[in-house]
Amino acid sequence: MTRSFNPVFASLPTTIFTVMSGLSVEHGAINLGQGFPDNEGPDDVRARAADALMAGSNQYPPMLGLPELRQAVADHYRRFHGLELDWKSQVLVTSGATEALAAAIMALVAPGDEAVLLEPAYDCYAPQVRAVGGTPRFVRLEPPQRRITTEALEAVTGPKTKLIVFNNPQNPAARVYSPEELKVLADWCVRHDVVAVCDEVWEHLVFDGRRHTPLMSLAGMAERCVKIGSAGKIFSLTGWKVGFVCAAPELAAIVGKAHQFLTFTTAPNLQTGVAYGLGKADSYFQDMRAYYARSRDRLTDGLKAEGFAVIPSEGTYFVNVDLAASGLNIDDAAFCLRAVKEAGVAAIPVSAFYESDPVRNVVRLCFAKRDQTIDAGIERLAKARRLF
Ligand code: PMP
Ligand code: GLN
Repeated sequence: MTRSFNPVFASLPTTIFTVMSGLSVEHGAINLGQGFPDNEGPDDVRARAADALMAGSNQYPPMLGLPELRQAVADHYRRFHGLELDWKSQVLVTSGATEALAAAIMALVAPGDEAVLLEPAYDCYAPQVRAVGGTPRFVRLEPPQRRITTEALEAVTGPKTKLIVFNNPQNPAARVYSPEELKVLADWCVRHDVVAVCDEVWEHLVFDGRRHTPLMSLAGMAERCVKIGSAGKIFSLTGWKVGFVCAAPELAAIVGKAHQFLTFTTAPNLQTGVAYGLGKADSYFQDMRAYYARSRDRLTDGLKAEGFAVIPSEGTYFVNVDLAASGLNIDDAAFCLRAVKEAGVAAIPVSAFYESDPVRNVVRLCFAKRDQTIDAGIERLAKARRLF
C-alpha cells in the first residue's frame, strides 16, 4: 500500500539545526551550529521554576497562560519599550516562539492568501505558511547590507498579500534593522492593510548600544502587529520553550483559538520561572548583553586573525563568515560538512535559509559559548580552512 502524506511535510528535509547538531555529536565536534548557550542560565530563575515544580500546581494551567506571566509580559514591555498592553486581552503564552509562529500563521492565513518572507528566512516560516494553504512570496535581502526597501516589498505585493513575517533582530544575518527600514515596512503594511507577525525573539540580544524597537510601537502598527517573544533567548534557557504573543485584542483572540488546539498550554512551573525572570532588574539584561557581546568579539577577533572575513554581528547569538571574501571558493554546505567531519567544528550553512537560488558563500557561527569553547572553535575553523 502506498500512503500519501501532506506534501508540505513529505517534501521537507530535517531542519539544518538538527542535522548539524547530530553530525556534531557523531563526530565529537565543537558545536557552533545550532544556537544555544553552553551555560546553564540564571540560577534564580531556575530555582523559582524548581520550587514551583515541587510546591505549586502541576495540573493544566489556564489555556492563555498563567495570569502572573501574562501580567509580567505586559509589565516587561511597558518597562523596556513603553508598550501599553492589556494583559487580559492582549497577551498569551505559548510553548516557545515556534508555537507562537504556528498559531499566528494558522490563525491569520486562509487558503490562497500570500505571506511575505524576507530571505534569508528562519526555516520554520515557509512550511508553516504552506501547511495552512498559504503561498510564501520571498523578498531577498542581499548581503552584505541586506536592507529592506519599498521597491522590493512592492514587487511581491498583490491583492492576496495578507501578512509578512518580520524577524528583528534577524537570524541568521545577525542584523538589527534601522529606524528607516522599520518605517518603510510599517508604511507598506498600512498602505496594503498587511498584518506583521513580528518574530522578536532576539529583542534583548542587541549590541554596541543599539536599542530594539518593536515594530508594534510605530505609528499605525499597534492594531496590525503580532509580537512574538521567547524566554529561551532572554534567559539563555532554550530548552524551556516558553513563548509569548502580544497583539491587539482582535488578533490575540484569533491566535488564541489556534493555540488552544496546538498545545493548549505550557508547563506551569516554567511559566512561574519566566514570570519571575521578566521582572528582574535592568542590570540582569544589561549584563547578559555585555556577556554575549564579549563572546561575539572574542569569536570575531579570533576568526579575523585566522584570515576569515567576518560580517559584523549587530545582534542575536551569531556571526557570519563570508567564505568567498575569506579566499575560500567553496559552497557553504560543502564547507560545513567537511568542517564537522574532518576538523571537528559544526557551523550552519546560510543557504539553508533560502527557498531557491541560495547565497552559497556564508556560514553562521554561534558565539554563545564559554571562552574555551570559542577558542577551540576558532582553532578548528582554522584547520577547516586549511582543508580547502
Ligand atoms: N525564531 C527565531 C528567529 C529563532 O532564532 C528561534 C530560535 N532560535 C525561534 C524563532 C524559536 O524560538 P523557540 O525556541 O522559543 O521556539
Ligand atoms: N533558533 C535556533 C538557531 O537558530 C535553533 C532552534 C532549533 O533548533 N529549532 O540556531
